Amino acid sequence: MSAPEFNLALEGAPGETVRLSPLVRRVLAPNPGPFTYRGTCTYIVGEGDVAVIDPGPADAAHLSALRHAVRDERVSHILVTHTHPDHYPAAAPLAEATGAAILGCAPGSDAASRAVGAASDAPYRPDRILACGERIEGPGYTLTALATPGHAANHLCFELQEERALFSGDHVMAWSTSVVIPPDGDMGDYMASLRLLLERDDRLYWPGHGGPVKAPKRFVRALLQHRRQREAAILGTLGPEPRSIDDIVLQIYQGISPSLLEAAAQSTLAHLIDLAARGKVRSDTGDVTRKARFLRP
Ligand SMILES: [Zn+2]
Repeated sequence: MSAPEFNLALEGAPGETVRLSPLVRRVLAPNPGPFTYRGTCTYIVGEGDVAVIDPGPADAAHLSALRHAVRDERVSHILVTHTHPDHYPAAAPLAEATGAAILGCAPGSDAASRAVGAASDAPYRPDRILACGERIEGPGYTLTALATPGHAANHLCFELQEERALFSGDHVMAWSTSVVIPPDGDMGDYMASLRLLLERDDRLYWPGHGGPVKAPKRFVRALLQHRRQREAAILGTLGPEPRSIDDIVLQIYQGISPSLLEAAAQSTLAHLIDLAARGKVRSDTGDVTRKARFLRP
């Protein structure tokens, strides 16, 4: 089989179906924002008998664009990478409209939704929870679940074997680093899930937001390096006097947009939890929380 061609140039407007490769199309949801970039990417995999990955928010226009994109096809599977409210709520109405089965990550905790500031009441009731390594096959395509906790505890990526592509959800994105917000987000898990990707041989990633990651291993190595630098910067702010997370954030995230300050604080907390577990920092009270103050042991 010759190598699939990837269309890396086309951006596409919300609701428009963009052909990305022989097996992959994308419909952008109309939910742009500081955590969602231009909106959630919903992917359609296969031809004629298809799987939909991350159906996105329960937005009427998006649902109707998705149904239009697959109007002459059968949707057999709806796959969900994780239960943040920009990825899954359209699963139930799409399943109802198409008769497809919902497969994917385990249900998440309430903390997971609150963490990203947009709890959703939409139910997430998968017909089947996929274990790491489990496969979904359709005509001409094979998708394999890969457990990648960190951004969310239940996060899965999906490999598309025929094109050596990985649907990376919010684990790895080209436009931004992932937010890791405790307690559902876990920095130690996130770093381990990044290292896991280095052992693979994917040709490119299709993320949950933004365009493709084109040189995945180099990119993931840079992400790991970025997190190690962030960790070193946090350690660099600490000494024998306890400091609050707000203090640390103001020192290391200079020039950050005010709308992202709390996310930076939560990310810093995620690093501090990991650093405390490794004995490199401690809090003045012993509790590693958002309100605690931190110092070097
Ligand atoms: Zn997410």
